[in-house]
Amino acid sequence: SSRDADARLEETAGLAVAIGVEVVEKVAFRLRQPKPGTLIGSGQVEALAETVRDSELQLAVFDAALTPVQQRNLEDALKCKVIDRTGLILEIFGERARTAEGRLQVELAHLDYQAGRLVRSWTHLERQRGGFGFLGGPGETQIEADRRLIRDRMARLRRELDQVSRTRGLHRERRQRAPWPVIALVGYTNAGKSSLFNRLTGSDVMAENLLFATLDPTLRQVSLPGIDKAILSDTVGFVSELPTQLVAAFKATLEEVVSADLLIHVRDIAHPDSEAQRADVEKVLSEIGVAEETPRFEAWNKIDLLEGERRDEVLALAAAREDVMPVSAVTGEGVEPLIDAVAAKLTQGHRRYTIALD
Ligand code: GDP
Repeated sequence: SSRDADARLEETAGLAVAIGVEVVEKVAFRLRQPKPGTLIGSGQVEALAETVRDSELQLAVFDAALTPVQQRNLEDALKCKVIDRTGLILEIFGERARTAEGRLQVELAHLDYQAGRLVRSWTHLERQRGGFGFLGGPGETQIEADRRLIRDRMARLRRELDQVSRTRGLHRERRQRAPWPVIALVGYTNAGKSSLFNRLTGSDVMAENLLFATLDPTLRQVSLPGIDKAILSDTVGFVSELPTQLVAAFKATLEEVVSADLLIHVRDIAHPDSEAQRADVEKVLSEIGVAEETPRFEAWNKIDLLEGERRDEVLALAAAREDVMPVSAVTGEGVEPLIDAVAAKLTQGHRRYTIALD
């Protein structure tokens, strides 16, 4: 439906903004029959080329999966850089990946994505040089050499990743032997997870301990009221319809979430698609195997952006639910009650965490 199409367009624009792109034009196309060469029809390409020219755009993001051929043809026709949904999400993950493991995974996924695009880029290059029909050109050998380079690099990355994952697994095991609860922050990209993570670890109640900082910037040892030690873990942001190749690539990072004792689902409650984003995150959580019974809170973030009736309405809804805490990572409003609620939940359900109280 057009409501869905609008929401999708807004989401993609939001993701582009998240990587620092200024969004100038948003265009929805009716696709009766996807064209193998350019996805959209030739008239649509022409109209789009005009927009690109008139507004001097440097990038066109297609909220679709483009084949390498389509991407190249569109770049030729539009005279600007073209990326598709996978490309956009790779950019976001690339920018946000903070762990060694995350960075390796993104690079691997990127190379995998690029490998499929090699042949066409090379043909393109050749045409630019005007070397159309020349005999004995670099041809296959150059492509083969490039492919081998990528294959070698990917093999090396996989070995490094193996090593890092093993180390991470060992750390996780050690932590599990220590009776410390693990609290994982999950949420849609841009919901405010990093801001809340910083807020939580920087607050007076959760005194930060740098033990894990050197090991992994997304893990912090914290103390809560009545709980001497807990681990707070920040994870990669979710987006809707994550390309499957990326789900696989990020599985290791998400394992932290699967084994967590408590989840804080950070939601941008001021976002018009907040409800759809919640559903997307829940879906990913069940896909990666998070148990239904894992205790979880929803932190309704960015309440500072709400005004008047809307704000009252949201606060009333939150008050009616025990598992919802309204917060603002920016102003700090609601953060202490969230910490108290998390601490109460952890000490209540799990006797082993009450040791610190005795
Ligand atoms: P993440 O992708 O979930 O880690 O989100 P970030 O923590 O990077 O936040 C995304 C954007 O939302 C940033 O521009 C933040 O400054 C902003 N943000 C986060 N929390 C709040 C909040 O409580 N209120 C407002 N107004 N903005 C927020």
